[in-house]
Amino acid sequence: MKHKVTVSNLGYPRIGKNREWKKTLEAFWSGRLNEESFRAEMASIQLAHLHTQQEAGIDLIPVNDFTFYDHMLDMAVMFGIVPERYEYNGGEVDLDLYFAMARGNAKATACEMTKWFNTNYHYIVPEIGELQPNLTVNKLLAAYRFAKSEAGIDGKPVIIGLYTFLKLSKGFPSSDIATIAERFLPVYVQLLRELEEEGVSWVQIDEPAIVTGLDVEDLSLLEVIYKTIADSVPGLKIMLQTYFEAAEPLESLLRLPVHGLGLDFVHDGGANLESIARIGWPENKWLGAGIVDGRNIWRSDLDAKLKLVERLNVHVGLDCLILQPSCSLLHVPVTVQGEDKLKAVVKNALAFAEEKLAELSLIGLAIGGDRAAIESPLQDSREALSVFRSLPERGRQDVAEQVRSLADLPDRRSLPFAERVKVQQQKWQLPLLPTTTIGSFPQTPEVRQARLKWRKGVWNQERYDGFIRQQIADAITFQENLGLDVLVHGEFERTDMVEFFGEKLDGYLFTRNGWVQSYGSRCVKPPVIYADVAFIEPMTVKESVYAQSLTKLPVKGMLTGPVTILNWSFVRDDLSREEVANQIALALRHEVQALESAGIEMIQVDEPAIREGLPLKAGDHEHYLNWAVKSFRIATNLVKDTTQVHTHMCYSEFNDMIASISAMDADVISIETSRSHGELIVSFEEREYDKGIGLGVYDIHSPRIPAVEEMSASIDRALRALKPEQFWINPDCGLKTRGWEETEGALRNMVEAASIVREKTRAVKI
Ligand code: GLN
Ligand code: ZN
Repeated sequence: MKHKVTVSNLGYPRIGKNREWKKTLEAFWSGRLNEESFRAEMASIQLAHLHTQQEAGIDLIPVNDFTFYDHMLDMAVMFGIVPERYEYNGGEVDLDLYFAMARGNAKATACEMTKWFNTNYHYIVPEIGELQPNLTVNKLLAAYRFAKSEAGIDGKPVIIGLYTFLKLSKGFPSSDIATIAERFLPVYVQLLRELEEEGVSWVQIDEPAIVTGLDVEDLSLLEVIYKTIADSVPGLKIMLQTYFEAAEPLESLLRLPVHGLGLDFVHDGGANLESIARIGWPENKWLGAGIVDGRNIWRSDLDAKLKLVERLNVHVGLDCLILQPSCSLLHVPVTVQGEDKLKAVVKNALAFAEEKLAELSLIGLAIGGDRAAIESPLQDSREALSVFRSLPERGRQDVAEQVRSLADLPDRRSLPFAERVKVQQQKWQLPLLPTTTIGSFPQTPEVRQARLKWRKGVWNQERYDGFIRQQIADAITFQENLGLDVLVHGEFERTDMVEFFGEKLDGYLFTRNGWVQSYGSRCVKPPVIYADVAFIEPMTVKESVYAQSLTKLPVKGMLTGPVTILNWSFVRDDLSREEVANQIALALRHEVQALESAGIEMIQVDEPAIREGLPLKAGDHEHYLNWAVKSFRIATNLVKDTTQVHTHMCYSEFNDMIASISAMDADVISIETSRSHGELIVSFEEREYDKGIGLGVYDIHSPRIPAVEEMSASIDRALRALKPEQFWINPDCGLKTRGWEETEGALRNMVEAASIVREKTRAVKI
């Protein structure tokens, strides 16, 4: 297969068709594989990925996209950026140290991990501080040589751009970035020079940080970096690669002395093409055209893609066009083959990494003029999409009507919070500083095995239900014995807070093997919203009602919110995310109603992922937050004044969102703060928040049992910023990953800390 236009890939999923990458890593960590076998196994996985791309007809195959853990960590380690606590003495970083940075060891804690832009991938944050970079190893060169000798591939080395690397690192004031860049540039250039000497042609330098917005200083830093590179390695062709959003201002970016600029034409809202049409494209500059969605799992509409390429061709010319996915395929699963449980019409509408490469190759052939060769696959593709699009469950009248009728629904609770809170106090008679938990209790191996037996049919429904009831009953007794004020049923029936609802709602499907890497060896299999989402029947009422029947204390109903369900799924792309969120919200509204009618009058609707959905450009935040908040309110605002709506969020960067969070109008919010307590509280000192709030008083991510004094100190600190009447005492997240023993110890201390502070507060009041 020979294309007249170059077809390229930006990165291939690491995890392997059957997650063999993950299994190899975990076998090595547990000591089941020695280093030699580990390396050999990894090399064969890497080689298989190269072969797949070769067979798909990709002209420019990325190398160095493969890693043993994470590409940011690789880059830090290549430059010898190893924090002092690991007692590193220079030289090449060995595997023990490499994995210690990722996962911690007996002597030193792991490096921080955080989300890669607006994806669900997490990278290791480099800690630069005073460290001096030096080139400990050239991983790009090794990867290039490997592809050449093992597969005869003249690969395209991929590396994170220095600008993005530094923007995402920590340990220095952001105003020092230009000085630090100067420190790194010679080493960065040395790395590229070795590639030049090796005879490498193209290098892909990933600069996704560009799309988050550039000010004058950012631009001049980019100029310094790319001018230095151009002057130092004139023999290399540099593709400056952006993705996830529009690259702006394009005029300035086009002036950077690089051979090619890579742009995302899928997630840019049309802005990249508009800019090109407006300002034109310089002669002799290559355009890396990201035309196939690297973030979602749907088959491309090839006719639309061909049209897009034709438009690009007008401005750029085929000689300078490279067709590629919108970003690395790291964010999609490996292949649709093997998804035999799906209906054919649905399976045929999916395209994972392998299928996306085939699409690109096909588009490449078509653009090169070989229409005949592609006529039949093009026809197949058209047909597959048209059958899928006309599925009745994707265009339901009833759902459309409900969404339309949203305009007529009240957009708020019937009483404002200041008045609601009084009737709620009267109804619930909660003590000052009420204690509660976030929802889940330990998911022990016993619970997981029971679920497995039930799924496999070894246990019938009745037996499984009986088991779950027993777990709930035990959890209620456990909480009563501890003296908690507001109880939960424990979520034993749920594997995952999104999957559980997806399985019970219309509009969802589940793949067998649609895994993507979340961080390190951890993979997730997001459920897929392929059709209109709608309520079928109550999803959580049975368990909540049973739990409530066992106690006089209030038991919170427990739901996952619309925005979290949306953000942790693969979502159909023919509707806006806002529309899909509204569909989910309407379905949840039914559930809230069902719970309330069944006598559950404290209802928690978790939105841990609301912040993750924030658009990359600050200018788009407001629109997103508006509809996100609205969908939460649709789900919850129909309840009686006395019904208490709770919500929970899993992050602490909260400052820029307090107004939106308040606008959600939940009566009580609990947030994860124990790891950054001080910072968050300061933001409450600066801004008014009048509703109930529980700032997590201990970190559930560690098995450590915090002492009473530690928690009471943290409550005291919070009470300097918040009124005792509004403050709740809870751990900072659900307890499902913990064991019972430490859960009991920690909660016992938490309840005691609460009662100590309660006494003190009362004494002061009298
Ligand atoms: N209610 C959920 C639980 O406790 C919340 C989980 C989360 O915040 N991610 O498990
Ligand atoms: Zn949480």
